[in-house]
Amino acid sequence: MKLPSFLVALLAGVPTVAFAQNGAVHRAAESITESDVRRRVDVIADDSMGGRDTPSRGLELTAQYVAGEFARLGLKGAGDAGGFIQRYPLNRTRIDGDSSRVVFTANGTTAVASARRDLVYVFGPRTGRPVRGQVVLVGGPLQPDLGKLLDIEGKILVVAGDSRAPGATPVNQFLSAAFERNPAAVVVVLNNDTLTLARQVANQFRERTAVEGETDSDPVVTMVHERALGPVFRAAGIDLSSFRTSPTYTVRTAESLSVAVTIANVGGPGMSAPNVAAVLEGSDPVLRSEYVVFSAHMDHVGIKANSKGDSIWNGADDDASGTAGVIELAEAFSMPGARPRRSLIFVTVSGEEKGLWGSEYFASHLPVPVSQVVADINMDMIGRNWRDTIAVIGKEHSDLGVTLARVTAEHPELRIHPIDDLWPNENFYFRSDHFNFARRGVPILFFFNGTHTDYHQPSDTPDKIDAEKEARIVRLIYYLGVEVGNADTRPQWNPDSFKRIVEKKYQP
Ligand SMILES: [Zn+2]
Repeated sequence: MKLPSFLVALLAGVPTVAFAQNGAVHRAAESITESDVRRRVDVIADDSMGGRDTPSRGLELTAQYVAGEFARLGLKGAGDAGGFIQRYPLNRTRIDGDSSRVVFTANGTTAVASARRDLVYVFGPRTGRPVRGQVVLVGGPLQPDLGKLLDIEGKILVVAGDSRAPGATPVNQFLSAAFERNPAAVVVVLNNDTLTLARQVANQFRERTAVEGETDSDPVVTMVHERALGPVFRAAGIDLSSFRTSPTYTVRTAESLSVAVTIANVGGPGMSAPNVAAVLEGSDPVLRSEYVVFSAHMDHVGIKANSKGDSIWNGADDDASGTAGVIELAEAFSMPGARPRRSLIFVTVSGEEKGLWGSEYFASHLPVPVSQVVADINMDMIGRNWRDTIAVIGKEHSDLGVTLARVTAEHPELRIHPIDDLWPNENFYFRSDHFNFARRGVPILFFFNGTHTDYHQPSDTPDKIDAEKEARIVRLIYYLGVEVGNADTRPQWNPDSFKRIVEKKYQP
């Protein structure tokens, strides 16, 4: 078994500077305490923060609190104009009901599903230009594993599957698998009752807040009711209702059917939302030009009417816990003698719940070149569930997993056991802020305690946070940061993972 690093140093008779640093590192870890974690989560997830929707006054107050802590610790601003706050633009927009439509054509027959009547926009770029492509139809009982195998890159996926058949999977799980294969557009053919449809159609005209210039590479996703489509599918040689209820999962390419999806916006006044970022410069004159990022999201989903009476969704675990963790790490690393050779970036982003907006903006507007960012350690929900265990997602994709295993073995006093992703079908790797670093080539680890019955409920409140356990997790992350920050070489991707996640070369 490998010796703890301070023993290795002792036996090698290293100079007292390094030895003194070990004492400093230990003292810094001990500055991460249960009471600090509790106090910070209590501030961030307090009712007065109003659930920290993006954008909202409570989110701005949270950003000011984090920036104030970074300033108190003497960190350098890594936001706009040398300050701690980085602002990214938002637009308030509505769907344009007159020009948003999906047009189906087959052998001279045409059906138009209009956003005023039969079409519900779900998400994706709203360019006002039609998206066209070869059509691939899926029917029968949906299966997520098979969704991952679809050959739909740049094509239009039309899903007329039966999610109520025995053993079938919900449409959203099937779609999240299919999105890995980069379709240009997805049209889900609905057969629900007209009252539900009418409500969905009406709801889509509410004002939405969106990041300016959403990534055009995302598929545009819509739902269309089948009531308008029978004749055009028949003209293409397909009986829609028997296709839907096929006894087995069925994929067809429909050469004679063409589909054009157009979603347009009515623009509104511009707004913005905050990220908060700070740098702690490294101690090594060369390695200080490389950076380790520690990230979490400040935002949650705000205030919503709810049958249980409480309308404030506090988001204590999701993700006041991670935000408190980032501040505690900034405090620990700022202590005398505790900073590693590489520089560190501490960032709390917003808009995560809306679609990873803040981290997308931060990762594409970094204070340093992305090639100099060697790792992102992300914390999203680290204050609940197991007392001695934390899922660490992404361990298998780089040697950060091996480093974490070594650091964990060196610190049995923390009684924390990192485990693998228990929920591969949930695609958590793609669902928090680290992903915006990973897809730009930065190796990541994502610390996550799993969901619970209070997940995305008004009952995710600060009193339920296990601050003692969280402090031990954050100490482990601190020791991991020391290791990554001081190592002679930067973390390395597993080559297969790099191909799949960064180069987006799909491998089954
Ligand atoms: Zn979260």
